[in-house]
Amino acid sequence: MTVVTRFPPSPTGFMHVGNARTALFNWLYARHNNGKFIVRIEDTDRKRHSEAAVDAIMDGLKWLGLDHDGEVISQFSRQERHREIAQQMIDKGQAYYCYCSPEELTEMREKAKTEGRKTFYDRRWRDADPADAPKDIKPVVRIKAPLEGSTTIHDKVQGEVTTPNDQLDDFIILRSDGTPTYMLSVVVDDHDMGITHILRGDDHLNNTFRQKIIFDAMGWDTPIFAHSPLIHGADGGKFSKRHGAQSVQEFRDMGYLPEALVNYLLRLGWSHGDDEIIPTEKAIEWFNLEHIGKAPAKFDFAKLDSLNAHYINESTAEHLINQSLAFYEQRHGITPDDVGKSRITQGIDELKSRAKTLLQFVDESAFYAKSIPLSFDEKALKNLDGAEEILLALKAAIENTTEINAEKTQEICKSVADEFKDGKLGKVAMPLRAALTGTTVSPSIFHAVEILGAAETSARIQAAIER
Ligand code: GLU
Repeated sequence: MTVVTRFPPSPTGFMHVGNARTALFNWLYARHNNGKFIVRIEDTDRKRHSEAAVDAIMDGLKWLGLDHDGEVISQFSRQERHREIAQQMIDKGQAYYCYCSPEELTEMREKAKTEGRKTFYDRRWRDADPADAPKDIKPVVRIKAPLEGSTTIHDKVQGEVTTPNDQLDDFIILRSDGTPTYMLSVVVDDHDMGITHILRGDDHLNNTFRQKIIFDAMGWDTPIFAHSPLIHGADGGKFSKRHGAQSVQEFRDMGYLPEALVNYLLRLGWSHGDDEIIPTEKAIEWFNLEHIGKAPAKFDFAKLDSLNAHYINESTAEHLINQSLAFYEQRHGITPDDVGKSRITQGIDELKSRAKTLLQFVDESAFYAKSIPLSFDEKALKNLDGAEEILLALKAAIENTTEINAEKTQEICKSVADEFKDGKLGKVAMPLRAALTGTTVSPSIFHAVEILGAAETSARIQAAIER
């Protein structure tokens, strides 16, 4: 049997990390089993539908590296098929038209409330004579849910879960305007797409009992289910806006590498012994349903940060620069050229070891890729004030040194400090840093001089003096 999994997001305009984790689990399970991972957009809510919202999801998947098999399926485009199945169920006596008016339904709901019942529809049209149908009401179609016994799901995470059937009402499968409900569409699509495994959040567990009624009514094989507990915030509540960033896009904008977020989301709800660092190839090799956590995991930003720092450290300069191009543009208005890239590559070890996020990496490396005249931030300007004498001395000494390097730069700074600043190295290094980087935070400025070279260093100092 070929494993076929699916990711069926409702396009809401962004991709929640909880959904991203669901997508990841399904993707990993498919890849682990050499199966297929299908994306189906649940775009039946036409009032709120927008292509931009679909793009946001597809972008999120792409950025995370979760490639799908085959065409992306639009659930909306399959409505005819959903209606056809509803008709088949009506024909077989497994579903029926219900002509209740809104008033009748309200009455039933009130009655159920006072009697403390969860289900309310009293099934009055289930066995009624169609000849009694009122002409002026467009009917809905309801499923004939089993009246007795119970429904059991053998869930790979939750174990065996059973619900007495009197808890399941004759829910609607086609609305009065002929549009299929989620409950029907999802089952028809999962069947037609040959989905073998459904991995999703346990907020869908209640739906699963209802969906099973449709699978059974049609005589279709029920997929294997694995319902994961939802992600919680540090305080134990459901992970939401008040806990901070929620969407994959937000995490990307905060400078997390996709591989760090993927590793983090994987560990958030799945384990492989004590392993914390699980690169994607290993995740594909190891992923299984048995080790999906049964208790809700708490989102821990500090853990994500440490994974991000790890993956930044493991990355090549090229990868980090490529992942950061948008940030160089947004934050510094530049696109590193070959010279800039080569300087960043030379300084990469120190840049990597300092960076927890790509934003930090970009802010501390951008100066290598900028050209004169640099712009100076406020603190840098303060360091440049009254530093002309020092800068001129540094410039002259650097120009007179053959093969400038970090060590020689440090010696030059020392002797300039001795001459002008009572030996206080910082009072020389800070203006130099301001002149070369336009900021007051950077990797070792001695090393930066070695990478920039004498000519560029001298030109930047001159420009800082003339600013
Ligand atoms: N479209 C549903 C959602 O975004 C998913 C439905 C499912 O997994 O069956 O929550």
